[in-house]
Amino acid sequence: MIWGPLLRTYQNRYAAFLARTVIHKTAPADFFLKFMSKQKNPLGTAAYALTFDFDFEKDIDAFPYLLDTLKKHDIQAGFAVIGKFVEKYPDIHKRAVDDGHEIINHSYTHPDNPHWAPDRYFNKLTYAEQKDEIEKAHEIYHNILGIDPIGFRTPHYGNLHTESVYPILAELGYKYSSSTAACGYKGFGAPSIHSHGITEIPTGCSLNFPLAIFDSWNMLRKDNPFLGDDDLFVDEFKKTIKVVSEHCLFLTHYFDPYDIVENNKLERIISCLKKTGIETIRYCDLF
Ligand SMILES: [Zn+2]
Repeated sequence: MIWGPLLRTYQNRYAAFLARTVIHKTAPADFFLKFMSKQKNPLGTAAYALTFDFDFEKDIDAFPYLLDTLKKHDIQAGFAVIGKFVEKYPDIHKRAVDDGHEIINHSYTHPDNPHWAPDRYFNKLTYAEQKDEIEKAHEIYHNILGIDPIGFRTPHYGNLHTESVYPILAELGYKYSSSTAACGYKGFGAPSIHSHGITEIPTGCSLNFPLAIFDSWNMLRKDNPFLGDDDLFVDEFKKTIKVVSEHCLFLTHYFDPYDIVENNKLERIISCLKKTGIETIRYCDLF
């Protein structure tokens, strides 16, 4: 009985893998434009939302430099931060709030985080445990930072993201989740209502890799197309922003702070955004 569904899952995954490989090797830019042009851009003008996920101590190490650089160029971003880190390093998080950045709920312990929750996975938690992770983090942002976030990002999103977060977020009065990948989501890279009145803001891809998530880990470290080549990575970013800008699209990415501050990648990305004149927004500006 179990072989049917198992085989179908395998076939679906294999078909998805095959489609991705063929598209990435043949006409990725055409696909990107066709795919993204189907979106309903909420702003009507070309817009870009820059976000960062703080998962490890080394991300906290990069925090002051990240804040300095964003301030220097007058860019406000979204920071998905963990409740435990806010408790441990309140001052740097307070500075982020003072600088006008948005705090995104990224759970209390970030299940499977090596520091506090190495053997837990968000999708394996019960509904009550997931709720506790989200609510506890919210309490900390409220008590320590004096703010009430309106958005959530599932730790590690993708396969670890579950439908059960939407009723939890709705109950908390949240407006959005940003826990899916643009390539696999109905919004074609732009925000769209998911369920329980919650908007989903999928994380974006890039011009030549429209069926992947464009972030430093996926592109530079994992089964990567760029083999640690920061120049290729930045170049791909520039090409993508040019098309997004020319075609009045909405795009958002997330980056790992520890990685993006290395080798001037952050400065080069910001300089590209400034040069194209694309509007940079925070997710909360959409509501
Ligand atoms: Zn994370």
